[in-house]
Amino acid sequence: MAINFNKAEFILSATVPAQFVHDGLPQAAFAGRSNVGKSSVINRVVNRKNFARVGASPGKTTQINYFKIDGRLYLVDLPGYGYAKVSKAERDRWGRLMENYFQSAGLIDLGVLIVDARHKPTADDVTMREWFRGSGCPMVVVANKLDKLKRSEIEPNLALIRETLNLGPDDVLVPFSAEKGEGKDALITALAGHLKR
Ligand code: GDP
Repeated sequence: MAINFNKAEFILSATVPAQFVHDGLPQAAFAGRSNVGKSSVINRVVNRKNFARVGASPGKTTQINYFKIDGRLYLVDLPGYGYAKVSKAERDRWGRLMENYFQSAGLIDLGVLIVDARHKPTADDVTMREWFRGSGCPMVVVANKLDKLKRSEIEPNLALIRETLNLGPDDVLVPFSAEKGEGKDALITALAGHLKR
């Protein structure tokens, strides 16, 4: 039966490894630079307006939010990175949490990396891609904010993203607009295809 992505519930925010969820359901981990539109992409996937902000209080950049979809899989919202106004203490906390998360064996079934379709991926995006690669999970890269590109810019920008992130032929790159909804079906197909149990 098709997964109903409209049936989404917030489960918990993890700030320490003891709170990481290991209950056997498949997990797709969403990562991206702050402001890239990660919350907007999740909201678009589940068809709701302020959903991905549930449980996230402002300024709390160091928590991992778990959303359960149709009782069948988790969307795991990893804390954004690259936010300029974050203290060193908070950056360190972020680094420890992510290290623990990526070192916890078998947590991630699919990595979803959100990048900005307008720009070359940042050094942090490349690092995140390597962390996912190191965990051995397949990857989907979402090139968000597609609506901000001119038609003629789309192909060259997607090629630059593929090249910078060193994507192989089997890695999926989904051109996406959280604002307009473009790419939603392709992303849902990629999620459902990788996460069937
Ligand atoms: P997050 O910090 O990665 O969770 O980013 P948000 O989802 O909060 O989005 C950051 C900003 O980018 C907001 O002002 C969004 O409205 C805007 N945004 C997100 N996705 C898109 C998109 O596809 N197109 C456009 N034009 N703006 C977007």
